[in-house]
Amino acid sequence: MSYRTEEVAYVQPAQPAASAQAAQAAQQQRSTAEYRALDAAHHIHPFSDMGSLNRSGSRVIVKAQGVYLWDSEGNKVIDGMAGLWCVNVGYGRKELADAAYKQMQELPYYNTFFKTTHPPVIELSALLAELAPEPFNHFFYCNSGSEGNDTVLRIVHQYWATQGKHSKKFVISRKNGYHGSTIAGGTLGGMGYMHEQMPSKVENIVHIDQPYFFGEAEGNLTPEEFALARAQQLEAKILEIGADNVAAFIGEPFQGAGGVIFPASTYWPEIQRICRKYDILLVADEVIGGFGRTGEWFAHQHFGFEPDLITLAKGLTSGYVPMGAVGLHDRVAKAIIENGDFNHGLTYSGHPVAAAVALANLKLLRDEKIVERVKNDTGLYFQKQLRETFANHPIIGEISGAGLVAGLQLAQDPKARKRFANGGDVGTICRDFCFNGNLIMRATGDRMLLSPPLVINKLEIDEIVSKAKIAIDATAQQLGIS
Ligand SMILES: *Cc1c(COP(=O)(O)O)cnc(C)c1O
Repeated sequence: MSYRTEEVAYVQPAQPAASAQAAQAAQQQRSTAEYRALDAAHHIHPFSDMGSLNRSGSRVIVKAQGVYLWDSEGNKVIDGMAGLWCVNVGYGRKELADAAYKQMQELPYYNTFFKTTHPPVIELSALLAELAPEPFNHFFYCNSGSEGNDTVLRIVHQYWATQGKHSKKFVISRKNGYHGSTIAGGTLGGMGYMHEQMPSKVENIVHIDQPYFFGEAEGNLTPEEFALARAQQLEAKILEIGADNVAAFIGEPFQGAGGVIFPASTYWPEIQRICRKYDILLVADEVIGGFGRTGEWFAHQHFGFEPDLITLAKGLTSGYVPMGAVGLHDRVAKAIIENGDFNHGLTYSGHPVAAAVALANLKLLRDEKIVERVKNDTGLYFQKQLRETFANHPIIGEISGAGLVAGLQLAQDPKARKRFANGGDVGTICRDFCFNGNLIMRATGDRMLLSPPLVINKLEIDEIVSKAKIAIDATAQQLGIS
């Protein structure tokens, strides 16, 4: 216990608990103020300014069901972000809890390092091979998307070593891409604020510009012309470094954390053409796009290209337990399998409980036809309602997205594509209005993001859209724009 706990005078010392149930009941009886004081005293949150968070206090989320969350004050909140883009099957699915419980009793842990395996990881791999596009038949497991992208780097370098092309070392990614927050993930990503705090980086990673039409297109380029020009930056970068030195290109099919940026249809076919022409592996980071988000099982199918590696996490288990994976195209898998040791692994690679939960999760997505429903019904409805509701809105510049993911661009002058000078502040104002209106909608700079659970129904979509409208109207009003 740190000295800081003593400063918080109104926190009662914990009583010894008679049993686990009593301890749990005691925990749930804490007041919001007590939770906040203890949280402030002992918990450092990810991606947060702890000084200011501790002064304002966090919202304490205590339970969830379907697409709704409840906080410790009893407020019911609609979750427009599926947690952090991950709770694809919604909260409270007993099938997943049962799978974990059963697996914990049967075999809570065993490793897969030393000539051993176990049923859950075998079943999961077979089902992933069935659900993924035809050339993806092999999967390597880890615990997160970040570790997935670290694994991607290991596979990429091993692949080129097996081909005798040892000079192929550079990996090209994009500014404002997000690939996680390990050192490799953070270096691959193009988030300036993360790079600034991290002077030590992984070598041989370089960035090209993102296909962000609203924010970065100049002159009279159409979205298609702009996307093509941005894709051709890859070719220029390859020629600059030398194709013999470039191992891979990695990108999210659509940028998630970067603001739900959907490139025009010309982008990915051109990226694929360039990768093939110069013999460079193409990696799709499907951590958000995978498992139904766009209405296809994988977002690269939505954009019509064929990567060599796919990074998976988030929706793989719907966030119920941590798990990540990398899917290998047959031609990459063959090289890895037939060329000796692959020197990479994590204690929890293919963890039996995580694998059992992932398996139960994927069966729900498949058997309840959740992805098909997003594609043919709820996703179409969500996109239509957003576009209709915000057509000609005074501060909405564009709506991007497909299926059940959308980015709403806040803009000073939508028609002129003029952004706010203090866009991040405007996003925060809007986010706070959403929060107060019991809607979780995330702000990334001046873009508002939605990515609800894939099981959402039309009434619940209406609720999200109308709450978003109230918050965005209030934002415009506060800025004096109408
Ligand atoms: C969230 C995310 C990651 C990182 O996943 P973690 O599980 O947080 O490590 C990587 N790539 C993309 C595209 C993501 O959205």
